[in-house]
Formats: sequence, C-alpha cells, structure tokens
Amino acid sequence: MELRTFRVPMRHRFRRVTTREGVLLGGDAGWGEFSPFPEYGPQITAQWLAAATEAATEPFPDPVRHRVPVNTTVPAVDAATAYDLVAASGCRTAKVKVAEPGQQLADDLDRVAAVRDALGPDGRLRVDANAAWDVETAVHALGRLDRAAGGLEYAEQPCPGLDELAELRRRVDVRLAADESVRTAEDPLRIAGLSAADVIVVKVQPLGGVWRALEVVEAAGLPAVVSSAVETSVGLAAGVALAAALPELPHACGLGTATLLAGDLTSRPLEPVDGEIEVRRVAPEAALLDQWAPSPEDSLVLLERMQAAAEARSAGTGPA
Ligand SMILES: [Mg+2]
Repeated sequence: MELRTFRVPMRHRFRRVTTREGVLLGGDAGWGEFSPFPEYGPQITAQWLAAATEAATEPFPDPVRHRVPVNTTVPAVDAATAYDLVAASGCRTAKVKVAEPGQQLADDLDRVAAVRDALGPDGRLRVDANAAWDVETAVHALGRLDRAAGGLEYAEQPCPGLDELAELRRRVDVRLAADESVRTAEDPLRIAGLSAADVIVVKVQPLGGVWRALEVVEAAGLPAVVSSAVETSVGLAAGVALAAALPELPHACGLGTATLLAGDLTSRPLEPVDGEIEVRRVAPEAALLDQWAPSPEDSLVLLERMQAAAEARSAGTGPA
C-alpha cells in the first residue's frame, strides 16, 4: 500500500488543534485517511486505521443518493454575524453552538433568533451544547431556545452522560442527539437501550469504517447524522459514502467541514454547493501532497503512530 503523510493548517483553532495531519493510504480501491486527533492512544486509533485501510482496499457500499445535504455550523458569534454566516451558506439547516463558556443564555437566544430569521420558517435549526449543561440547566435552556428558534430540529449533546440524556429526554419535548456519547461502535446500542437520544451522530473513523458504521446504525435503530472528524476531502469522502448509503437520511449531515481547512489535498474539495455535497471518491494530487508534506521528522512521528495503531489492531484490541 502507498503511504503519504500530510499536514494541513486549519483556518481557526478546533479541539485545541491548529492543523489536521495524518497518513493517506493508497490501495486497490482508492485512498483512505488516517487522521486521529493527537490525544488518542493506539487502542482508539486502531479503529481509525481500520477505517482508512477499508477505504483503500474495499469498495464503499452502493449509494442510494448522489447528493448529501449538509448543515452549516454557526460558532458562538454575535447575532448579526450569525445571520450573515447562515445567509451566505446556502444551507437549509443550521447548527448553532450554544453554552459557550463566558456567555449567557441571552447570547444564545439572540443568536438562535437571528439564525431563524436568516433561514426563514422552512429551514431547520439545531443547537449543539457540547455537553456543557446539567439536566436542570438543560431543561430551562432548551425550553427557551426552542421558543426562540420557532422549533428546534434537535439539541445535540446537551448533557455529558447517557443517564443525564435519558433523564432530560423524559423531561423535555425537544428531540436529543448524542454526539460526544458516540465514541465507539458499542455506544449507539447503549444509547438506544437507554432511550437516551432520538438521533445519533456517527463518524466513520472512530467507528472503524463505512461498512461497520452502517451496521452500527442499523443495529441501533435510530436516525443517524453523519459527521466528519474534520478530515481532508480524501477522508471526508468516506463520510459522504456512509451518508449516501444509509437507507434513511432524515437530517442534514455535518460533512461540510472542508472549508474549515486552509488547504486540501485535491483541487476539487468536497465542499457544499447549495447546501449539498456531491457523492464521489477523492484521490490526492501529487502537487498538493508535496505542498502539504510535513517535515521528515514529523512524517516519521505520524508513521510511527500508524504503526502503533496497526500493532494494537493485530493484537486483537482493535476491530477484527
Ligand atoms: Mg456536536
């Protein structure tokens, strides 16, 4: 298999990182991307490597759609900026970040109302609290936000724990989505078992590949929203393939993230047009691989990280 390392700067800091880096694997089926976040050890990155290996060696499942609707994401900005971001996005679904440290609920309410104005009555509006609230705070905040939004599509990970999500779900009418609670392939089944969410957010790399993710979603029996791990377009293509293959796709996906990167490995990035992404595979281009090549020392670190993931996988601690 052909291996190429990369490091692409991000436009803004995300998850405490300012670059996305990893290894591309080229094989008979195409290219896969191994790009786990820096804090993950080999037991976890083994899953990410399984996904990259699958993309390089096995065809993706047959698509049942050729375009995938995506949401635009509104950071914790002021209301006027939020309006402009949504109006310029072309997306019919907006995800609004709420519960930002240092801000008040009033800031969230203003932002959500501005986004509703920008979307119009037919657009869908979801909020994402990134696990910031306890149950009582979430009950209060979601009631207010639901009214300010003229109806929320759902609220993503309002509380950290599954027990909290399950309790909250019994106490509010707003639908709940689990995101941070879906870290491994086992989690969606636990979420379904506890009735802790109405929707699951799934990502290809942490779940160990497109085919595995399809099985996981089917077993959980919940509507799924496919999100990226902020991959380059090579890795994003696997998320798009999953979204394209799901029998039902009732919600826009979180795959419109290529624009978060200041560079890409293709001159035709998987960026949304009119709120949708085209379903296609992506191969890296030689000139861009050269442009975004890490130093030899940094490449070695990335390849060693991949090797550690491979050893964890073959030791039976990763997926078969
Ligand atoms: Mg989220």
